[in-house]
Amino acid sequence: MAAYSKRHYGQRRWQLDDPKLIVIHFAEAGSIGAIYNIFAPNRPDAEYGELPGVCSHYAVGAGGGAVEFVKPGIRCRHVVGLNHVSIGIEHVGFSDREVLGRKAQLRGSLRLTQSLRCHYGIPVKRVIGHAESLSSPFYKELDPDFRGRTHGDFKRASMRVYRRELAKLGDC
Ligand SMILES: [Zn+2]
Repeated sequence: MAAYSKRHYGQRRWQLDDPKLIVIHFAEAGSIGAIYNIFAPNRPDAEYGELPGVCSHYAVGAGGGAVEFVKPGIRCRHVVGLNHVSIGIEHVGFSDREVLGRKAQLRGSLRLTQSLRCHYGIPVKRVIGHAESLSSPFYKELDPDFRGRTHGDFKRASMRVYRRELAKLGDC
């Protein structure tokens, strides 16, 4: 991750010292175990063929239970351009609508996000969907082959719903 950080952000560093963002994903996987199996082999990723393998800090199951895969003090490869400043949360599910539609999963996700954002002093507006990555003021990507690339998970319309529900949990 230190070598990845050097290539993409200009600084050799694997630590995530002061996260500025939380990035919300869905995994296109049906269980926490299936998500774990995507990340665990630490293989070069399918899209770019680069190491370390993709990962996320947390995954939230369909019933709302959350698992920590990687400590939030360590950088994890979950979003091009923002891995140096963000915590990643994956969700069991195949669409953002599916995740938002499961009350228990949404509740568990919001609880996890609220505790992280309060711990790190991250405002609600900096809880973003993967699909919103390119418009973040923190976006940085030195490799021109990677620049401008993002994914379709958790689009802005869905994140508006997510942030509205998150705000209902109140201030930290
Ligand atoms: Zn994603």
